[in-house]
Amino acid sequence: MRELVGPCVCCAKDVYCTDGFLNGIVDEGKILCFDCQEKRKSDWDTKSIAEDEKGKCTDT
Ligand SMILES: [Zn+2]
Repeated sequence: MRELVGPCVCCAKDVYCTDGFLNGIVDEGKILCFDCQEKRKSDWDTKSIAEDEKGKCTDT
């Protein structure tokens, strides 16, 4: 079972919930995929996810 959760706030890639396992993280309704979480984990934790962070992951 695969359920679309929504787009990653960073790269806009669709994040799915697969068999109860979310392929990313959700914080206060904001979705971040695992790829972006891995890329940004050194300087961008879940608490700083914001709409204006869009595109930051793909810039580097
Ligand atoms: Zn992403």
